Amino acid sequence: MAKLLFINGPAEGHINPTLAVVQELVRRGEEVVYFTTENFRERIESTGAIVKTYDGEKFFQAFRGGGGEHLLYKISGLLRTANIVIPSILEQTKNERFDYIIHDSMFGCGQLLSQIMLLPAICSTTSFIQSREQFTELLSTFANRFPSQVQKEAEIQFKEMKSSIKQTYAVEVPSPYDVFWNPAPMTIVYTTKLFQPHADSFDESYKFVGPSISKRFSMEPFNFAGIQEEKLIYISLGTISSNNALDFYHVCFDALGNTEYSIILSIGRQTKIETLGPIPSNFMVKPYVPQIDLLQKTKLFITHGGMNSTSEALYYGVPLIVIPTGKDQPAIAQRVSELGAGVRLSMEGLTSTQLKDAVSTVFSNESYRLKAVEIGKSFQDASGYKQAVDEIEKYKLQQGI
Ligand code: UDP
Repeated sequence: MAKLLFINGPAEGHINPTLAVVQELVRRGEEVVYFTTENFRERIESTGAIVKTYDGEKFFQAFRGGGGEHLLYKISGLLRTANIVIPSILEQTKNERFDYIIHDSMFGCGQLLSQIMLLPAICSTTSFIQSREQFTELLSTFANRFPSQVQKEAEIQFKEMKSSIKQTYAVEVPSPYDVFWNPAPMTIVYTTKLFQPHADSFDESYKFVGPSISKRFSMEPFNFAGIQEEKLIYISLGTISSNNALDFYHVCFDALGNTEYSIILSIGRQTKIETLGPIPSNFMVKPYVPQIDLLQKTKLFITHGGMNSTSEALYYGVPLIVIPTGKDQPAIAQRVSELGAGVRLSMEGLTSTQLKDAVSTVFSNESYRLKAVEIGKSFQDASGYKQAVDEIEKYKLQQGI
């Protein structure tokens, strides 16, 4: 039995796929100490891990402290979170010894922590992985999109943060890629080579284990009474974009209200149902639903294209309409549409006619569902969290743990 330090950020999409992995590790005898923020305590404790927390509010304050929309600002924001996460973890673990660390690819400054604590590391990547070259190319598009003054300021801020980290923790921050992707000797990617773009550009240290989906973490059973399953559409913009999307919900009502479809709409915990105005009778609106259960009955999922939502839907062979709102979602929407498992729409200027037409297109064209089923089969064959834990065990052997 080894002792694992697991580091993650306060984001559902980054945590959910790790739950089944941690539960399986605990089941196989591992002792796991999982660091994130307080609001995820209950769900992580249910895996059998010991949960320790750092301050979520300060974390987000630091993250936003990077400034504007330029990717380098976000990277500096990630570096700023080091001063919230690292001292807290070092203080709370000062009397403990760990054998290895698994850290999120983006949140929690895992690469820095593994250097400071001298621990063999594994990176947990809950979206498509990007190579150093692909990321550098992406970063250079920001240099072209923003005025040179912004570019200069963003570069200065990054350099300042980098040297402040070096001074404080005596570790190097080699490049923006290292901050954004936290590379490690082994990287677990929760998708398959079929779904990952340019999968062949990644070497054997990248383990494409498939989506890590476990029914055990779903909530109480959903009551499907009165719902027409043959025409069931589920709509959700995930846990973040859903909180500021009244216009989108109204487009959904206009496009699909009082039609033959049964619709379940998850609006997130921060939108009050009363603020939606009149709700068409074929809509059921909830702040949060057991998505995994629901997707098993859903015939079409209208999603923002979060990696988890998209993977969960494809896992169960559900075709998609993807309407990305930012982050990695445009790339995911692109991949879904180029593989033919769904239709991509743009949130900007979205009309009810566009949405209605896209729904008819997917319902009347069996090829979308068949493609979703094919990708879903690759996901199911990959076995997700079990393969992840098998890979972790192999890595431990190689490292002499
Ligand atoms: N989710 C859920 N019920 C809801 C809305 C979301 O269970 O009503 C879960 C969903 O199953 C997924 C996660 O929240 O695992 C959302 O992650 P995703 O990467 O799709 O989007 P994010 O919230 O990170 O934007």
